[in-house]
Amino acid sequence: MASLVYTPVEDIEKIRAELQAGFDSGKTKSIAFRKYQLLQLAYLIQDNTKAFEDALASDLGRHSLESHFLEITSSIAEVMDAYKNIESWAKPEKPSLSVNWMFSRPVITKEPKGVCLIISPFNYPMWLVGPPLSGAIAAGNAVVIKPSEACPAVANLWAELLPKYLDPSIVRVVNGAIPETTKLLELPWAHLLYTGNGRVAKIVAAAAAKTLTPISLELGGKSPVFVDSECDMDLAAKRILWGKIANGGQTCVAPDYVLVSKAAQDKFVAALKTAYASFYPETTGDSPTPPQNFTKMVHQGAFKRVQGLIQNTKGTIVVGGETDEATKFISPTIVKDVKGDDSLMSEEIFGPVLPIVPVENLDEAIAYVNSHDHPLALYVFSGSEAYKKKVFESTQSGSAVANETLIQAATTGLPFGGIGPSGCRFSWYPAHRSLTILPQPGTIRGRQFGFLMFTHLRASIDSPGWIDKILGFRYPPYTSNKLAKVQARLSVKLPPRPSGPPAVAAASGRKWWLFAFAVAIVGALTRMKNLKSLALNLIRA
Ligand code: NAD
Repeated sequence: MASLVYTPVEDIEKIRAELQAGFDSGKTKSIAFRKYQLLQLAYLIQDNTKAFEDALASDLGRHSLESHFLEITSSIAEVMDAYKNIESWAKPEKPSLSVNWMFSRPVITKEPKGVCLIISPFNYPMWLVGPPLSGAIAAGNAVVIKPSEACPAVANLWAELLPKYLDPSIVRVVNGAIPETTKLLELPWAHLLYTGNGRVAKIVAAAAAKTLTPISLELGGKSPVFVDSECDMDLAAKRILWGKIANGGQTCVAPDYVLVSKAAQDKFVAALKTAYASFYPETTGDSPTPPQNFTKMVHQGAFKRVQGLIQNTKGTIVVGGETDEATKFISPTIVKDVKGDDSLMSEEIFGPVLPIVPVENLDEAIAYVNSHDHPLALYVFSGSEAYKKKVFESTQSGSAVANETLIQAATTGLPFGGIGPSGCRFSWYPAHRSLTILPQPGTIRGRQFGFLMFTHLRASIDSPGWIDKILGFRYPPYTSNKLAKVQARLSVKLPPRPSGPPAVAAASGRKWWLFAFAVAIVGALTRMKNLKSLALNLIRA
């Protein structure tokens, strides 16, 4: 394994100051400058693909096909997306027309925030550096990259290549572990993007609070998979198993565990075994060998943690279970009859182990998911629209995915991020409903979300003098005449007061209508009875 070249802690403040000077020079305001840097970043990856492949193999024992599909090609695609769209993303926007304010010519300009910090985790050490960096550069910022020390070969490569391709007065790498990151966190940043686990996120958020640094947190958690007993089990098994084993299960949106009905569990396990045999033909037969070219656990700590989860499970291991400390290898492992309080359900697994939790019915599965943290991703395998709708409408998660795993994270144009403990990325979202700034399907493709995270939406007006003919009432002395003008010109007209709150849920709404219907019927019958006695009385009279 490569050894990391650490950045001296005492250099870190100087690096930040040099980047501030680079930013203050104003060069990043130029779109042409940003485009040049973006293209250089794309070439950095393309020219050094083999070096990245080797570094990823050294750090993670990963096959080059996985590295290409999961990181290298998608990183270049994201950088080029920013390169191609930057002009439209950076255009100022006008809010929707308001008669009261239109003469002040309101406009929102998209401005860089300043010197930003990106702290990345080990599991995708290219993809979680390149694309966020491209968003920050496209938005016109200067950036410090802090790669994960758990992938020293890739971290060293970033430190070696970035100054060769990009302007070092706006992009720098700080390599190191806790002391270096702690020093970085003592400094103020225009924006801080942290991707990693929730425990460290609390340290990062607390440090950022001290310098009022705005943050985005990309975290993880246990992403559940609902498997409908009526679904195409073979397809479901193949896609779930692939999502679990890719990168040795060390993916933030990996399917963490499966919820399936007790009656369908064995059918699903049989489908998983078939998928497993097709993925790893060498593991079946009389003398099976562990899968070749399988991504290893990143370090001994991760290996021991996942091995412990397997050793302590009370479920039944139906596939795999082999581990090898020397190579940090954990074989793809499937465990059935797992209960909610099992070791495998105690934390995000982040390894190639798939627990299957049998449930009575869909309601029990939904209740289980809702009694835990909102997941980063939530998967449903079903051909039934009603089943998918019920799961999606009854739960909350970063993304909601039907009949697929993982690839929502790389789907161009879709935002990526968690909710609550799985992360917060969109705190910068403008509250004003009229903005067209959010990417609209079919209009703006790509990772504008990354661009926006590192962009300050600057509100601006340019008010002509004659406006005081209309708004002069704001100046003292305050008189009742001026107050009347405020009320007449600026008061907002409310719609008619509603008779009561609308029915919240379909079920309670139906009950309300049933009740109203019953009252109406009783009323009508009473009235009919009264009319009948009136008529009888009249006849008698
Ligand atoms: P990691 O160990 O590489 O740590 C991530 C970063 O935090 C590193 O740069 C490291 O130097 C820094 N760090 C570690 N300890 C620190 C401390 N005490 N103080 C300051 N900084 C510290 O990676 P990890 O956190 O184990 O990453 C895995 C987690 O990240 C999983 O939970 C996964 O789900 C999540 N993740 C989320 C996303 C996403 O986009 N939402 C993507 C990838 C990974």
